[in-house]
Amino acid sequence: MGSGPAAASRRLLVATRSRHKLRELAELLGLPPDVELLSPDDLGIEGEPDETGETFETNARIKARFYARRSGLPTLADDSGLEVDALGGAPGVRTRRFAGPDASDEENNARLLRELAGLPPDRRGGRYVCVLALALPAAKGAGGTVPIEVRRGTCRGRIADGPRGDGGFGYDPIFEPAQEPPGGRTLGQWSPAEKNAISHRSRAAARMRPLLRERGLTG
Ligand code: IMP
Repeated sequence: MGSGPAAASRRLLVATRSRHKLRELAELLGLPPDVELLSPDDLGIEGEPDETGETFETNARIKARFYARRSGLPTLADDSGLEVDALGGAPGVRTRRFAGPDASDEENNARLLRELAGLPPDRRGGRYVCVLALALPAAKGAGGTVPIEVRRGTCRGRIADGPRGDGGFGYDPIFEPAQEPPGGRTLGQWSPAEKNAISHRSRAAARMRPLLRERGLTG
């Protein structure tokens, strides 16, 4: 790699304040070590956008645009959640706060189990969804609009009849991936490597990689 603009272009802002997510995305995207991955905190960017969108795409775009405008850097944002068939796609963009604004994972899981109580396995289907949005402020178009590209990944499964396993996070203890028979292992019982091979986030990341490569942001 050269110096000057080429080196400067290998900085990527990730629109999250979570170190865990930052590391996880770096891994899933296969970013080489010389790409400098930054969080809003690293740049002293304060505040957060209101995630007012009704779709994962809209919210991922809102976050990517917000931080790209403030930083002038290529910015990657993600939005994810769970869509349950029997609930018409809910909780969707409200996944994190399904049981209330400050609900714990256990409270969210308990609410979902209550809502599906009595339904047989073939009516408990659902999927995780992850949308990644990449905003490219250096490529501003007419009127100063920041171009944004989005990529989506999904992971199908069904909601178990009770929690099993303590791996993963969020809804993993009650999510049986489609590869498992009803009553089989939940994602809370899969290893991180097994989960990464099929997860919504890794699938969205795999679809985002060619775009990052085009922009000189990955090897
Ligand atoms: P966010 O993308 O951090 O807003 O996450 C939305 C919510 O979706 C999380 O708080 C989790 O409850 C849920 N979620 C997203 N991805 C996963 C996953 O891989 N496993 C379990 N829960 C997830």
